[in-house]
Amino acid sequence: MKSGDGYVYIIGAGPGDPELLTVKAERVLHEADVILYDNLVSAELVGQFDALKIYTGKRKDKHHFEQDAINEEIVFHARQGRKVARLKGGDPYVFGRGGEEIAFLRKHGVEYEIIPGITAAQGASAYSEIPLTIRHISSSVAFCTGHPLDKIHVPDADTIVYYMVASSASEVAKALIKKGKEEQTKVAIVQNATRYNQKIFAGTLGELKNKDKKVVSPALLVLGENVTEFIEDYWFAKKKRVLIAGKSSEKYETGEYVIVRYPCIDSGQIDAGNIFKKVDDSTAEMMLLFVDKYAVRYFFNYLFENSIDIRDFPNTAFCPAGRSTTSELLKHGVLPDLCLDACTPEKIITEMAELGITGETILIPGSDSADKNLVNELTALKNNAVLLDVSVQSSFGQGERIDLDCIDEICFSSPSCVRSFKEHYAAIPDRITVTAADAQTEAEYKVLFGSQA
Ligand code: SAH
Repeated sequence: MKSGDGYVYIIGAGPGDPELLTVKAERVLHEADVILYDNLVSAELVGQFDALKIYTGKRKDKHHFEQDAINEEIVFHARQGRKVARLKGGDPYVFGRGGEEIAFLRKHGVEYEIIPGITAAQGASAYSEIPLTIRHISSSVAFCTGHPLDKIHVPDADTIVYYMVASSASEVAKALIKKGKEEQTKVAIVQNATRYNQKIFAGTLGELKNKDKKVVSPALLVLGENVTEFIEDYWFAKKKRVLIAGKSSEKYETGEYVIVRYPCIDSGQIDAGNIFKKVDDSTAEMMLLFVDKYAVRYFFNYLFENSIDIRDFPNTAFCPAGRSTTSELLKHGVLPDLCLDACTPEKIITEMAELGITGETILIPGSDSADKNLVNELTALKNNAVLLDVSVQSSFGQGERIDLDCIDEICFSSPSCVRSFKEHYAAIPDRITVTAADAQTEAEYKVLFGSQA
């Protein structure tokens, strides 16, 4: 089979802090049509880009892509002539299975390039002030996997960093002692390196062996004399952690703070989930406009991920644009109400204008800039056009619970953000400073959380 003109970038996203992305990766992600991202990549990071986003990581109790399926998915998109960004945590070539994906691309004649990322060991080292090498003390460093335990290596290096140790740090310690490492050997476990909730345990292998406390994933273990450099008030620990609920203000964008974004529905923003809820009352009449077959595909994927039944759309006209979109809809068991001949955004607008479609609520599943333009044009035709972002969120971001124990300040930008926050967090610890952008927001905060911001 001949491949299309698509191109694949295998990109390292860095260890967690969204700013630890290379300039090149950032540019490519802005240009990409599709981003396939792993569970170690934060939703906050991918949220900055317009491409269609597909989460390929693992989640408990939910379906996920196996490696073979990911390979197929990458090739599938490339064959449509798309610019595909395959975004992986850390560096793709350090325990990242980047090699397997590239072998598959080569086999299928798909062009690609690789953009390196900061690997977790480097991120952990910099953000915990534990140098990987120190003159006269540690002159070699090795990266190893701590899993499986029976195959654990103890290379002849002054500093050894073990990846994949989270569930079994004490077991790893026991295995290393068994392999001849002294109980007094210095170790540090760095959990959530470079993220707002980074935590470090520093001690000896012997102490770690007896530590039954659970280590939170992702975590790695640094072993060697270099760990003696560790100090409790390392630079990253001293930063103030601010949770921004809603829009950020310039005050916080100075690099002085560690910013945690709480993705809440701010005024002016529309949340797909809410629209679907509106559909539940089955009185709403609307049109779902699918611009291409991928829109159909990801719309159904979205329904699946969010346990939404297609029968929840009784008063909705399904409107595919172009033949391939129509046939994709038919494959999902939906007979279209209106088929457009047009298959480019410009032609869709002309055709809808000719059909006299105005005053309608039109939902457009998709997320790229062409779709946004379509929304503007349909609005100009006096429709209520709404873009539905049907990208599936990872367990980070919206789905992940923010650890309020690691937050120093919360800033609410609007009353709706206070309400959205209240839905997920019943109380805010007294220790946390709360600020509100205006009097209305402050009033809502007082009503819902019962104290002064
Ligand atoms: N390609 C990645 C590694 C993927 S393997 C890289 O270059 O970093 C997954 C392992 O990486 C995790 O089990 C953990 O050991 C490590 N890891 C990834 N991100 C991490 C983080 N933010 N903090 C600590 N360890 C991390």
